[in-house]
Amino acid sequence: MPTSEPDRVLGRRAARLAVVDPATGETFDEAPDQQPDELDAVVDRAHRAWHGWRADPVARTTALRAAADAVETAGDDLARLLTREQGKPLAESYAEIARTAARLRYFADLAPRTRRITDGRPMHSEIRWRPLGPVAAIVPWNFPLQLAAAKFAPALAAGNTTVLKPSPFTPLATRLLGSVLATALPEDVLTVVTGREPLGARLASHPGIRHVTFTGSVPTGRAVAEAAAASLARVTLELGGNDAAVLLDDVEVDRIADRLFWAAFRNCGQVCMAVKRVYAPARLHAEVVEALAQRAKTVAVGPGLNAETRLGPVNNAPQLARVEQVTKQALADGARAAAGGHRLDGPGYFFAPTILTDVPPSSPVVAEEQFGPVLPVLPYRRLDEAVAAANGTGFGLGGSVWGTDLDRAEAVADRLECGTAWINHHAELSLAQPFAGVKNSGVGVAGGLWGLYGNLRPFVVHRPQEA
Ligand code: NAD
Repeated sequence: MPTSEPDRVLGRRAARLAVVDPATGETFDEAPDQQPDELDAVVDRAHRAWHGWRADPVARTTALRAAADAVETAGDDLARLLTREQGKPLAESYAEIARTAARLRYFADLAPRTRRITDGRPMHSEIRWRPLGPVAAIVPWNFPLQLAAAKFAPALAAGNTTVLKPSPFTPLATRLLGSVLATALPEDVLTVVTGREPLGARLASHPGIRHVTFTGSVPTGRAVAEAAAASLARVTLELGGNDAAVLLDDVEVDRIADRLFWAAFRNCGQVCMAVKRVYAPARLHAEVVEALAQRAKTVAVGPGLNAETRLGPVNNAPQLARVEQVTKQALADGARAAAGGHRLDGPGYFFAPTILTDVPPSSPVVAEEQFGPVLPVLPYRRLDEAVAAANGTGFGLGGSVWGTDLDRAEAVADRLECGTAWINHHAELSLAQPFAGVKNSGVGVAGGLWGLYGNLRPFVVHRPQEA
């Protein structure tokens, strides 16, 4: 990897950040461990680049379309590197890259609407939309590219520049993405910075940043909001989730089992809006547990680069320790593992896909976010109990209802306290929809036109009808 721009500016040899392959547990490469004081030069350049970038919406559209093409052209290299550092199966990496390009293309063609308001007085107001300035995009390790694009594509389309900071666990594919995008975008419109904390904290509090858009855990989200308060920058936070899937008594277990399993286990369960708890009618509980356990026992687990792998490793050692700890706690609390329940022997951060039953609702695997390949299945007797349990959490990202009578399922979905509710599937998102969590799951709205306006401010001109 080339020396970073700030390294050159400051004329010093950069510290390095070791990057581990989660399929082996061994370091396979490194990235710059940039220091917080390097951000002044980066943000300054992003600010200078902003003036040209904001001025020409047509040039922006052309550049963002070219950026999408460049991402697709580099798809093979990006996908292999993403799988290597993140762990996900190669097919999921390709899907992530396709989504990254699709976001760029979607936002390239999206423009805010200028509106004129008249209210009977001899004047009108025209509402125009203006960009904010340099935007900080801070991203976690579960979908490094796709979540980055969810931030920089609307920010850039709105006429802002972006400083993008990936997780120190997954800096490499993002750095490669940065170089790929640099072939299509003007200099300093998008800059990737990598390093350990307090790099993110410094970026969030930097006085030159006008919007901090963050995806990650609730505690870090709070810290980011506090840091951004120093400069009163706008904050958009997409935080954790503990999504429930509520199965109704007319559900056909065989028909939905595959979809339900993958809604919980895709990306090894490391998805903010994965199904993290299943509520099944008591009469169907054993059948649901059996159907999910059978899939958990037979799914191909292995390194993401192996063609047959459907489930890769957990991304990093601290997360593996967390998954192991909540599972052990559940078993100590009286749960039974219908499948898995333990780490897998051998190198790498592999955990056996786990289905838990007889779990007390207060056990952390139900009450908190497990963020790994472990799924508790809880029985209920009355539907009201299931809805109350689904809503009985500090999170409110998503939720789903599964059944044959779609009208009834939709009526139950309408009772879920979350940002997105699905019927008979989970975690499907349209690029055009708003995406927002309630309660601890987030602040602000991303996605679609709402994501674009989240990166703009209104500018209003009052004008009389006559001179
Ligand atoms: P995290 O909060 O530990 O880290 C997220 C990012 O913040 C990383 O880039 C990290 O380096 C950076 N960071 C750490 N401390 C910081 C600080 N003080 N100031 C600024 N930045 C800081 O999260 P994680 O472990 O990387 O990701 C997992 C979490 O992300 C889960 O809780 C998951 O639910 C959540 N998530 C949410 C969404 C969503 O859209 N709601 C999507 C994906 C993941």
